[in-house]
Amino acid sequence: MTMESPLATALAQLRRAVDQLELSENDWKTLSTPRRILEVAVPLRRDDGRVEIYKGYRVQYSTTRGPSKGGVRFHQDIDLDETVALAMLMTWKCALTNLPYGGAKGGVAVDARTLSLQENERLTRRYTSEILPIIGPERDIPAPDVGTDERNMAWMMDTYSVNEGFAVPSVVTGKPIVLGGSLGRNSATGDGVAISTREALKMRGINPQGATVAIQGFGKVGYWAAVALEKMGLRVVAVSDVSGGVTGFKSVDDVLEYSKTNGTVLGAPGTDHITNQELLGLNVDVLIPAALADSITHSTASSIKAKVVVEGANAPTTPEGDAIMNSNGILVVPDILANSGGVIVSYFEWVQDKQNYFWSAEDVRENLNKILMKSIVEVEDLAKSKKVTWREAAHMLGVARVAEAHRLRGLYP
Ligand code: NAD
Repeated sequence: MTMESPLATALAQLRRAVDQLELSENDWKTLSTPRRILEVAVPLRRDDGRVEIYKGYRVQYSTTRGPSKGGVRFHQDIDLDETVALAMLMTWKCALTNLPYGGAKGGVAVDARTLSLQENERLTRRYTSEILPIIGPERDIPAPDVGTDERNMAWMMDTYSVNEGFAVPSVVTGKPIVLGGSLGRNSATGDGVAISTREALKMRGINPQGATVAIQGFGKVGYWAAVALEKMGLRVVAVSDVSGGVTGFKSVDDVLEYSKTNGTVLGAPGTDHITNQELLGLNVDVLIPAALADSITHSTASSIKAKVVVEGANAPTTPEGDAIMNSNGILVVPDILANSGGVIVSYFEWVQDKQNYFWSAEDVRENLNKILMKSIVEVEDLAKSKKVTWREAAHMLGVARVAEAHRLRGLYP
């Protein structure tokens, strides 16, 4: 069995969309090439005086439809190929949801859990300073991803602003509210995952009330998805993190309280331990991968019993894993649709910052719902009319919009 890299997977998905849309070879060449790649050395003075050098990246995959947009990941395993793949997915995601953005991704190959708060701040500021020439509210707007959160965004915003000489909140999204963050941004990705789950269940003729859910990954996406799903009346029966999973809890908030102080969900009072592998194979209605890439593969996909899989994570499924789920009749809500709530509310945050006018939580919720529901219906309609999977339909919609924008802008000179 071949294990494809996230980049090979993303390129294969793009190739398929290009073929299904009957685009030209010129289109393929443009669409399959990242616009700009920056690799930087990020030196860090550790608290004990040692100097470490980490690799950092910022990939601006596309700027055709607007400034590029995408998260910053702090994780020891990231490399350039994966960052390009994730930046490509951001491009189709922004186009699918019709946001006026291209796509980007960045990060530092560091295990954020090994850094003290002060080290994390120094690393974030130095990384920001290294990529400073290519970011900005009209160029490229970073946001949190795996291993980063609103504190990192506050430091990025400050570093950029100090260099400009005035406050520039719109250079990053996912900031604390007092620095120009948006109400509802923290929970936005999880809220979107929950909305996609509810709609996919309804389309499958399954009543969301009381439907059971297992969630792999209990970070920003997994936790907020669990909260929103419980509010909608679904039952979250298992959650996991990198150390393993638990079942048997009353509410995800009990698990959160425990994991905040213990750094893992494992051992939360009144729960039973399961492995991540067992979690994937639970007899539930919905499975939500919300951790890292490549968790649903040729070796794990056949154990999945869920009727609907909702990709909270980016690129959690390999092509072999996808083929197995499709042939087993599982409805897969693809990443670029399922987790698009995060970038949709990031867009709202950027709009609010640029206008210096801030919306109510209700405004954010209503607008998120409107944009996401429109995308879900478009994907479902196209999947039905073209007899393709939701993933293929979502890519066709996103890729077609970027290709059209390319064509209309033309080739300079
Ligand atoms: P996070 O760092 O907040 O949480 C990641 C979680 O995954 C943690 O609970 C971690 O323990 C767990 N994890 C890591 N490796 C694992 C493994 N091998 N098995 C099981 N669990 C594992 O990150 P996040 O922001 O929640 O992002 C999760 C995914 O969602 C990523 O793929 C990210 O790109 C994607 N995403 C995030 C956002 C966002 O707004 N944060 C938006 C769209 C997509």
